[in-house]
Amino acid sequence: MRRNDRRIISPVRRWYRRYGRSLPWRGESDPYRIILSEIMLQQTQVSRVLGHYPRFLRRFPSMPSLARARQRDVVLAWRGMGYNNRAVRLHALASVLVGREMRIPSDAASLLELPGIGRYTAHAILSSVHGLPVPVVDVNIRRLLSRVFWRMPSTADMRSEPEIWRTAASILPRRGVYDWNQALMDIGATICTARLPCCSRCPLGGICASRKRMTQAGRGTRKSEPGVHGVPNRIYRGRIVEALRRKEAGFRAEALGRVIHPDFTPHDIPWLKSLLEALERDGLVRITRGRTLPDFRVVLA
Ligand code: SF4
Repeated sequence: MRRNDRRIISPVRRWYRRYGRSLPWRGESDPYRIILSEIMLQQTQVSRVLGHYPRFLRRFPSMPSLARARQRDVVLAWRGMGYNNRAVRLHALASVLVGREMRIPSDAASLLELPGIGRYTAHAILSSVHGLPVPVVDVNIRRLLSRVFWRMPSTADMRSEPEIWRTAASILPRRGVYDWNQALMDIGATICTARLPCCSRCPLGGICASRKRMTQAGRGTRKSEPGVHGVPNRIYRGRIVEALRRKEAGFRAEALGRVIHPDFTPHDIPWLKSLLEALERDGLVRITRGRTLPDFRVVLA
């Protein structure tokens, strides 16, 4: 497969014209709205972002309004999105960009130096804000290209990120790259899904190496995350932030532990403290007064 190869470009473009999703940030020219959508879409499904994006924009309609806000209010407005450290980084990013009079860097290296910007977001900004011909690779595109270009044994398998970035760059069309990236994302999200790819409706079925040949991965295939009582720590961190959103004065350690876990005992304090320290490193919470166990208090930063 080479650049501008019609065997892949034409069916993808045809499919996108007919079935591409209509999303509020597509075709948007305001860099703030584009950046907000890209940061929300990191680790969160489109269906959930669709509900939160307009609500967040009503609360913070511009980058300066976001930069002026208290971090606490930004984290409050992020409620329901999960991965709250993105709210902290988005707020920091707004301050940096407003300080630079909203001059958004137009090269990946400079974008990667900004808070909250990883490779995917940097390329998404280059493609959508600056209209540059660069690939983007999210999990949908990674899954799709893995299956099209390699014979994947099961639906749980994917090629490595560096391989997929190289592949995405190698098949980039010469024009219409923004729509091209969006089209690949849509096919990955709606046709070549993680568990049940719909090969009979796929525009890439004619060239796909894995078409109808993968075994179905069981639910247990997912890597287990660290946690207690079968609940991942990620969920407990979300519960901590949610509890602190509701109570500005914060909590003492044990009281907070009982809010996030009904069977919490003093033996669990070291575990709780490790969760809080991770949240503190992300800039989400502040641990105040005595740092010795169990004498500490925690508030939203
Ligand atoms: S043919 Fe099937 S496995 Fe291949 S890209 Fe399309 S949906 Fe995915």
